[in-house]
Amino acid sequence: MPDVEMTPELRRALLAWYDAERRELPWRGTRDPYRVLLSEVLLQQTRVDQALPYYRCFLARFPTVEALAAAGEEEVLEVWQGAGYYARARRLRQLALRVAREGWPQNREGLLELPGVGPYTAAAVASIAFGEPVAAVDGNVRRVLARVHAEPDPKPAWLERVAGAWLEPARPGDWNQALMELGARVCTPRSPNCAACPLAGLCRARAAPERYPAPKKRRAVNEARWALVLRAPGGVVLERRADGELAGLWGVPMGPGTAPPQAALARYGAGAVEAAGTVRHAFSHRRLVVHVFTGRAARGGEDPGGRPLSELDRKLLRAAGFE
Ligand code: SF4
Repeated sequence: MPDVEMTPELRRALLAWYDAERRELPWRGTRDPYRVLLSEVLLQQTRVDQALPYYRCFLARFPTVEALAAAGEEEVLEVWQGAGYYARARRLRQLALRVAREGWPQNREGLLELPGVGPYTAAAVASIAFGEPVAAVDGNVRRVLARVHAEPDPKPAWLERVAGAWLEPARPGDWNQALMELGARVCTPRSPNCAACPLAGLCRARAAPERYPAPKKRRAVNEARWALVLRAPGGVVLERRADGELAGLWGVPMGPGTAPPQAALARYGAGAVEAAGTVRHAFSHRRLVVHVFTGRAARGGEDPGGRPLSELDRKLLRAAGFE
């Protein structure tokens, strides 16, 4: 079937809907690339209502890209703690260091060279901050395009072609945001409100929108971990995580398996430990089942309030009765 053609009337209708119905969010209306980028990075893995306080806090602490570049990694992670997906914060700081040195690239190609910036984020920042006529396809736009075309399996190249053909070159940033807003507010995954949709007249999926796009089959993998929550003279034993999703943050000793090996107990000077239950925690593609053990260490210890901790480590401390 041929692609659905976006007519000038429907373009006007979608933009009019966006102008009247869009949520007033603090990053709307700005063309400051730093603010646009920060909002996009936060929204990559976080819902709008959860992202809002982090956006405000982050800007209050680091109001410019230069302020972020001047901050240490631990300071940045401290403000980000709780938002999850900490690699985003580390890459944002690396990006700031580069932009503070070399200035902002003014188009999508240049933005793609920055640390942590993928095709979607580059197109969003280029269109919103610099007015470049490039289409940005996030999960919301993907769903709208798939439904309007009744396409069960929208491939990246197809999405790029159709989104590019639909783009309104006079207002590319607003156009991209209008499609995203439509996906977030009207063409929602489970209960699309087709009666209120400005694109209803050309939509091929109205009879059964939930069938498009077809759900991806993805099985999250369960992984077993042990964690040691050890009381020590200075508080609780914490260490800086060196790799994985939580690299750069601090946390309790943790390792693969369902119980800590003797070598781990010896390393922290711990005697006998007791099982204190399990904690489940989901990352994007895997789930951890963490077996928590409590005990005492002969030396060391930190005040957990003084270190940037992940949500997982907060759960582990709570399971051990520490917070
Ligand atoms: S008519 Fe319904 S399914 Fe089609 S784009 Fe609008 S909300 Fe989505």
